[in-house]
Amino acid sequence: MGTHDPRRLIPRTDRLLSHPELRLARARLGSDVISSLVQQVQDRARSGEIAPEDVEPQILAAVSSRRATSLRTVLNATGVIVHTNLGRAPLSQVSREALLTAAGYVDVELDLATGTRSGRGIGARQALLRACPAAESALVVNNGAAALLLATTVLAGPGEVVISRGELVEIGAGFRLPELIESTGARLREVGTTNRTHLRDYEAALGDRTGCLLKVHPSNFRISGFTSGVEVHRLRTLADRYHVPLVVDLGSGLLEPDHVLPDEPDVASALDAGADVVIVSGDKLLGGPQAGLLLGRAEVIDTLARHPLARALRTDKLTLAALEATVSGPVTPVVAALHADPVRLRERTEALARAVGCAVVEHDGRVGGGGGPDVPLPGWAARLPERAALPLRTGDPPVLPRVHDGACLVDLRCIPEDDDEQVTTAVLAALERPGDVPGLEGS
Ligand SMILES: *Cc1c(COP(=O)(O)O)cnc(C)c1O
Repeated sequence: MGTHDPRRLIPRTDRLLSHPELRLARARLGSDVISSLVQQVQDRARSGEIAPEDVEPQILAAVSSRRATSLRTVLNATGVIVHTNLGRAPLSQVSREALLTAAGYVDVELDLATGTRSGRGIGARQALLRACPAAESALVVNNGAAALLLATTVLAGPGEVVISRGELVEIGAGFRLPELIESTGARLREVGTTNRTHLRDYEAALGDRTGCLLKVHPSNFRISGFTSGVEVHRLRTLADRYHVPLVVDLGSGLLEPDHVLPDEPDVASALDAGADVVIVSGDKLLGGPQAGLLLGRAEVIDTLARHPLARALRTDKLTLAALEATVSGPVTPVVAALHADPVRLRERTEALARAVGCAVVEHDGRVGGGGGPDVPLPGWAARLPERAALPLRTGDPPVLPRVHDGACLVDLRCIPEDDDEQVTTAVLAALERPGDVPGLEGS
């Protein structure tokens, strides 16, 4: 470095770190985060990307916009309600409040009256049983996959899990239910064919080796045409005859039937039809936090709860709190989006289109998250040029539109009405700033 090298003017680390604002930020974010931010900005000055006198203001700006999590709130303008890449179900306001409560010390396993240990997650369990009186008991584990793993491992024991070939589902990202079930050593006994399975197919497979009967709702696809399956109430007669438990994995998690999704099975009906245990996810149509719910006969649920594997799959207090609040609280954002009033949706979309000067087109929303694959949810979208998609995604707040057929579609179904103005502002900015974010093209 020569004497006139401008890099000599870059403020030194110790001087920067002693800035009062950075001291405060250190208490909030931790010293590692602050040190690395300081170093990154200094490096940009060393490489000549920014001037030495800009180092301090840039560090202060970076620190003030820095959040404790790298996750960013995204406005979901895709029309897909349970969007896996956006974290599935957005939680209701009461669930968010419950999360904050649970974040501190809470009586999750303590009876305050006696000062002794109590059962974990009693509140969540009671809320579930109130919401689903057909179940005698309930158990909450980490997710739907964990619930299935627990039920099949424990109930089948060394025996076989009997399942139809039409129900060997891949749930996404390469995860296949049959492989999951076999991963703990359980053995699968596949019956029937891909499109047709009859009661006699099950019957031929049942015997001394049978551990349990499993019925899986193939939530993310439909086989149509020459098909048949065996309903839960008919499997019940076999389960009784051979004295084996009947497990039903419904996936999405309607507790009761919903007229918008006439083909989506629900927990209450499956239990009424004779399932011993029904499995659903907490963060699909139930609209709560990630969880796997096992609902059913008390004796069976108790057996599952006492198994050592249950401890490895248990949920934390945050989940239990959010789940209880979801189940006993008001309509969730998921259900609100599912039942969005088309007339109101159109008015909102037209207001957006007027403000930004674009067309309104018909656009079907989707359940998403591997639910109701064939069910269009009639609605509308604001139709923008495709080039608006990138600046929308990379704006602040990020807005995720649907890119389809050479257009960028903004669907307000999953956007809370209070956020419409933010969407309008974001779209106006995106139309002014078309795809000018360097290095993000095609990402
Ligand atoms: C989604 C789904 C699962 C897995 O549930 P996760 O909560 O994602 O672990 C299992 N079975 C079916 C039928 C599903 O749809």
